[in-house]
Amino acid sequence: MPAVPDALALYPAATHVARGGKAASFDLEGRWLTFFEDRVLYKRALDGRVHLRWREGGRRHRRVIEAEAAAPLHARVRALAEAAWPGAAGEARRRLRAILAWDPARLIAEKARFYAVYKPIAILPPDRYLSVVLQATEGCTWNKCTFCSFYADRPFSAKPPEAFAAHARAVRDFLGKNALLRKDIFLADGNALALSEGRLLTVLERTRVAFPRRPVFGFIDLFTGERHPLSTWRRLREAGLKGVYLGMETGHDPLLAWLNKPGSQRELLAFVADLKAAGLFVGLIVMVGVGGRAFQERHFRDTLEALAAMPLDKGDVVFLSPFVEDPASAYHARRQAEGVPAMSEAEVEAELKRFAHAVRGLGLRAARYDIREFLY
Ligand code: SF4
Repeated sequence: MPAVPDALALYPAATHVARGGKAASFDLEGRWLTFFEDRVLYKRALDGRVHLRWREGGRRHRRVIEAEAAAPLHARVRALAEAAWPGAAGEARRRLRAILAWDPARLIAEKARFYAVYKPIAILPPDRYLSVVLQATEGCTWNKCTFCSFYADRPFSAKPPEAFAAHARAVRDFLGKNALLRKDIFLADGNALALSEGRLLTVLERTRVAFPRRPVFGFIDLFTGERHPLSTWRRLREAGLKGVYLGMETGHDPLLAWLNKPGSQRELLAFVADLKAAGLFVGLIVMVGVGGRAFQERHFRDTLEALAAMPLDKGDVVFLSPFVEDPASAYHARRQAEGVPAMSEAEVEAELKRFAHAVRGLGLRAARYDIREFLY
């Protein structure tokens, strides 16, 4: 790891401070975002938790510190900013003053501010961690896929228009100048885009009022998304929707049924064709390793066949997600009961490389989507 040179850098949406081999970045409110010390990278989430990342023995490691336990870390980041204070003048001094206004207790109190605005945010696509998340809906309309526990304890509900507008304003106030780092909007939760066209147009209009000129993205599942005709997707596109992230999981229909997720490869192809005809970006999420060794070859073959048949272009992305089995899930219980052998972590990683190579061979973009890295 190269040494970090001492510096104080003022960027339009962030401030960077580096001294003595340590480095930190801060939003323009003065809250720290990242901190690097002793080969460990710390990332502070908006809910106050801190995610640690480091490499050891050739492997990537992760750990989370709960908000209440982060005070000593906050103090170390603050000490770094204090060390940059002597000699700072003008804009640099103004920014450091804002940073030093955040003592550990105030940073810990951000957790309560976050949960006054948001329900827990379960997951985002990896290229949307720096979106502004707006929760138009809560939960998922289906909630029965065996592998998914993101919204298990949250019945589906949609915010009425005025409640959504109030939520968007509250998010804007909570983020403050942190919003300068966030160039687009992500409509949560699981399948907010399943709302009726009329409701979605209202959501997009209220979104524009709170956050003008930001493109909008969201998750959609095939069985809810295909209820919208092409004409609806076109109108949503004109109203600011830029793209959708679709949990394809697999192109192998028997595996999809085994996961208790509705849909089929044939329906998926027709749906993606509509999304592309409407001019939308499409991010397709494939779970690598799901179904274990029993489904491995058929999952690979049919998924590639489905991807090859889709009218995707260079702007679209196939996200390859190494499957992480939750021991408390219906998936785990079913796999055990039916004696389906799981793939080891190393096997999943090798399979991911095989998928990535094959997807790129189709002329498509492939990207890793590791749900363990999620951060907002
Ligand atoms: S995978 Fe998607 S559709 Fe299935 S339960 Fe989870 S959020 Fe709902």
